Formats: sequence, structure tokens, C-alpha cells
Amino acid sequence: MREKLIAVRHRTLGALRDAGLHLHAYCNNDGCHWSAPLDLSAMIEKLGEAQSALPPDLAPRLVCSRCGGKDVAVVLSAAEALPDDAARYLRSKNNDQI
Ligand SMILES: [Zn+2]
Repeated sequence: MREKLIAVRHRTLGALRDAGLHLHAYCNNDGCHWSAPLDLSAMIEKLGEAQSALPPDLAPRLVCSRCGGKDVAVVLSAAEALPDDAARYLRSKNNDQI
């Protein structure tokens, strides 16, 4: 629930950066499940501060750097590293829960 509240208050990449929040990518491809932090500064440079940070807007732009898959989930977190329990949660679900 906390993540949903943060997402509503910080809808853009610039707002996430200003709030000190982080985005992570998680590959839903079976056999991969790679997760990595997203570089907010690089994303802002490329897409602009006003780019929506909501997962449905951002996820279609991402490609997994390990397997090349396009089924990538976006996770908003206050932590720089994606917690193990979050990765396990994502692994246990389909990609439409975020
Ligand atoms: Zn992958």
C-alpha cells in the first residue's frame, strides 16, 4: 500500500529524483528474472523531468539488459537496491500486479 501512495504523489521522473526515491526494473521473463536499479539521472536526461514514472507508462520503454526481453516490471522503492523479498514477490506473480 505504501508504494501505491508514493506512486500517486510522485508521478514524474523529476518528482522521484527530488524526493530521493528510486526505480528498479525487474524482468518477468521465465529463466531470467534479472533486476537492476534504473539510473534516474540518465532517464531524465533522455526522457525529461516530466516523463511519467508510473509503471504502465514507463515499463513499455524498457528492455532487459540481460535477456533482451520486453516484459519488464517497474518497481518504485525508497531503497537503492531492490529488497530480496520484493524480488521474490515479483517472481511469484504475473507481470500485471504492479
Ligand atoms: Zn531478462
